Amino acid sequence: MINASEKPSGNDWDAIARIIQNERRFLITTHVNADPDALGSELALAEALRKIDKEPLILNPTPVSSNYQFLDPANSIDGYQKGASLENLTFDAVFILDISRWERLGDLADPVRFCGRPKICIDHHPYSGGFAEYHLVNTEACATAEIIYDLIHFLGISLDQRMAECLYTSMLSDTGSFTFSNTNARSHKIVAELLAQNVCPRVIFEQLYQNHTPERLKFLGNALSNLQFDCKQKLAWMTISREMLDRYGLKPEDVEGFVDFPRNCRDVLLSVLFLEVEPEDIKISLRAKGNFNANRLATHFGGGGHNHASGIRLIGPLLSVQETILTEARKALEPFLAE
Ligand code: 5GP
Ligand code: MN
Repeated sequence: MINASEKPSGNDWDAIARIIQNERRFLITTHVNADPDALGSELALAEALRKIDKEPLILNPTPVSSNYQFLDPANSIDGYQKGASLENLTFDAVFILDISRWERLGDLADPVRFCGRPKICIDHHPYSGGFAEYHLVNTEACATAEIIYDLIHFLGISLDQRMAECLYTSMLSDTGSFTFSNTNARSHKIVAELLAQNVCPRVIFEQLYQNHTPERLKFLGNALSNLQFDCKQKLAWMTISREMLDRYGLKPEDVEGFVDFPRNCRDVLLSVLFLEVEPEDIKISLRAKGNFNANRLATHFGGGGHNHASGIRLIGPLLSVQETILTEARKALEPFLAE
């Protein structure tokens, strides 16, 4: 077994273990549009808590995307209904996973923030402070799931196949199938331990990445053939309007992952997807390669994420949002044009 509990300083391992020991009912939540890391981390944590006779309840600000429903075959994750009170739910403490900013909790932000129970943040994004009372934040972790793995070990709970499948899916997804710069010896050692629990990588890969509908694949072809380039092909962007989605009978969640493709182009350092989720509600996904820092660009517009994968949400007309971001992206790419 690997040394699981290198406790990064400033993190509240002991206090959190005490809360888990002393309390019984736990609310678990994560960011809007939960990705596989968020969902796998929630489900593995819930399973671990159940193992020690605790009562976890997962409540997310937005419903589980159909792409990831396979992770939750029992439909155990609830979606929050805007305006509903948390008072009807009994819980003693809250886990907030994969984020450390209130805005990212969407409609659940205020109900959770002011629920009057201890809040525990578990995250691998840069932490700017002032979020929850307790935290386990480790930006070296390849996924939030890696910290959940550490917590499970720290609590002395033994892994089972279900937990391992959830954690593996999270890590597979957040490391870009173990190719991103957050992949290292430790992530592989953890994966070796997860695979020992009868996790089948082929089945998980098929469910996660080989599960497109024909419509989605054809739409990807359409989006790729309209790809635009600038800055000596170092910048590539795709624009997907609501009207285009409607024409193909697709939902915003169906274009998840599209932004990763332009990055495969030899010279591209920054790939951007402008997605019109609703009129004037634009989701911008950034993917970077090499030394380009997408997080810096995202932070400039109030978004965030990691150096190589970040996101922004802006309110405004699609084309003007696009111009605003592209102007800043071109500036940020200037130092790379001489290369
Ligand atoms: P995606 O483009 O897949 O939605 O997001 C990539 C990464 O960027 C996610 O892992 C998440 O950490 C971050 N991210 C996405 N959207 C936002 C946003 O609106 N605000 C912040 N702070 N981070 C985001
Ligand atoms: Mn993550």
